[in-house]
Amino acid sequence: MEIRVRTAPSPTGIPHIGNTWSALFNFLFARKNKGKFILRLEDTDRERLVPESVAKIYETLHWLGLDYDEGPDIGGSFAPYIQSERKEIYRQYADELVKKGIAYEDNGAIRFKTNKEGKTGWVDLAGNKTIEFDNSTQEDFVILKSDGFPTYHLANVVDDHLMKISHVIRGGEWISSVPKHIMLYQAFGWELPQFVHLPLLLGVDKSKLSKRHGAKSVLEFRQEGYLREALLNFMALLGWSPPSGREILTLEEMINEFDLKDINLASPVFDVKKLEWLNGEWIRKLTIENLQLRIWEYLDKKYPQELIEKTIPLVRERIKKLSDYMNLAGFFFEEPKIEKGQFGNLALGHLKEALKVMEESEWQLDKLQDFLLKIVEKNKFKTGDFFMSLRLALTGQRVTPPIVESMVILGKEKTLARINRAVNL
Ligand code: GLU
Repeated sequence: MEIRVRTAPSPTGIPHIGNTWSALFNFLFARKNKGKFILRLEDTDRERLVPESVAKIYETLHWLGLDYDEGPDIGGSFAPYIQSERKEIYRQYADELVKKGIAYEDNGAIRFKTNKEGKTGWVDLAGNKTIEFDNSTQEDFVILKSDGFPTYHLANVVDDHLMKISHVIRGGEWISSVPKHIMLYQAFGWELPQFVHLPLLLGVDKSKLSKRHGAKSVLEFRQEGYLREALLNFMALLGWSPPSGREILTLEEMINEFDLKDINLASPVFDVKKLEWLNGEWIRKLTIENLQLRIWEYLDKKYPQELIEKTIPLVRERIKKLSDYMNLAGFFFEEPKIEKGQFGNLALGHLKEALKVMEESEWQLDKLQDFLLKIVEKNKFKTGDFFMSLRLALTGQRVTPPIVESMVILGKEKTLARINRAVNL
C-alpha cells in the first residue's frame, strides 16, 4: 500500500500553529515511509473564508521546508486540490446517498441519516487504542448545504477517498467527527483510512492552547526572529519523543527517527520559553555565514553583509532571536543616540585623554587593548569606568558586545569621530 497523507487546512485566517504542527507530523510520516505528502485546501465554508490566507498557507509550508508532493499550486493527479472547485463532485456523491435512501433533503440542504443503533469505533494509531462512540449520540447531519457547498464531513471523506489517503493524521479536536466519517465511508462502501489523532495542545496553564499562551502562527514567529529550524524542532517535540532522546534535531534527523508509535497521548504543553531556548541553540549551531544570511534577510537586506558577518562572533552567544541582533549590534550600522546625562562625572576626562593619543594606536585587537590599558595606568583611571565611558560614547548603551573588539570592527575613523562627538556634548 502506498503511503499518502495530507494536510487539509481551511483558509479561514492566518494559519494556526496547531495546523502547521499536524502538517509537520504528516510530512515526517510521509518522508520516513517514502510516501506522498499532499496539500488540500478545505475552503467550503464560504462565510469564514479569508482569501489572503491561501497564500499564507503556501508561504508557511514553503518557508519551513515542508514541501508537498501534490497541491493546488504545484498540481498532481487529482488537481485542483481546492474543494470549492470540486463542488460538482460532492453533489454527485450526496445525490448518490439520497438515491440509496441514506440521505434526504431538508430545507434545501441534504442531511445524512445516521444509524442510531450500536456503536462506531476504530483503532487509532496514535496510542494504538480503540475509540468508540454510541451511535445514539450521532444525530442526522448536513452533508450538502443549501448554498450547494458540501460540509466539512462530506468533502473531507470524499476527498480522502478519491485522493487515496492511507493515513489521516490530524489534531485530536477532530475525534468527535470520526463516527460521522466512518458512517459515510460505510454508506459509500469505501475502505477506511487509518486514523491518527494527535493529542490536544495545551498552554502552560494546562488549558486549551490559545493566543493568550503566546501561540502565534508560524509566520508571526518568523516575524519575531525565530528560525525555521527552531520552530520545526519545537513543534516536533510536542507530542513526539524521538527514540534517541535527542532534543536538538534537524528535519533530516526527525525523519529518520519518526515512528507513529512514539507519539505520546499526554497533551503536550506549548511553552514559548522552550521555543526561545531552542532558537538560541539553533542560532549558535548555524555557521557564521548562514547566520549572517538569516540576519541580513531578517533585516530586509538593508545592511552590508560583510559587516554583519564580522559582528556575529561578538553577539551570537547573547541573542535568542534574530530580533535581538539590532538591539546589541545596531551601533555598528547607525550612529547611536547619546545624551550628556548618561555619562559620569569623570567621563569627559576619560574621553579627552583617549582622544588625545588614540590616533597613534595601531588598529588591531591586541595592540589597541594594550594601548588603552596604558592610558588607564598612566592617568590612574578606574579600568571599568574608563571603558564604560568609551562604551557609552561609541554605542549609547551600557550593555554591549566586548567594546575593544567592537572598536576594531567600527574602525579608527568612526571610533574617533564618535568619541569626539561625545566630548562635544
Ligand atoms: N479543514 C480541517 C482543518 O482545518 C481539516 C481537518 C482534517 O485534517 O480532517 O483542520
